[in-house]
Amino acid sequence: MSRQQFWFGDWTTAPAPDASAKYEVHCASPVTEDGHLCGWKFSVLDDKELAEKAQRAHVEETGHRRFWEDSHVPTIVTAPPGSVVAGRIARYEKATR
Ligand SMILES: [Zn+2]
Repeated sequence: MSRQQFWFGDWTTAPAPDASAKYEVHCASPVTEDGHLCGWKFSVLDDKELAEKAQRAHVEETGHRRFWEDSHVPTIVTAPPGSVVAGRIARYEKATR
């Protein structure tokens, strides 16, 4: 009789220390009767507060208040130590160094 051991440890997701986050806001307010959108956008690296500040300035200037917000945040996922996936990650990273 064989036994299998299953690991249910915690996965972690953390910000990648070697890459920048990108924050974008796009004005999605219609500016014509046929629904053409404003097109204003603002993009910045590593400064979400600056993106929000630019967004508020656009609202103050135009009265437009519908937006799309995109956040691109580089992350690193770590599998539970000792898991099958952790071994797969180690082999992948060794092969691609
Ligand atoms: Zn606008």
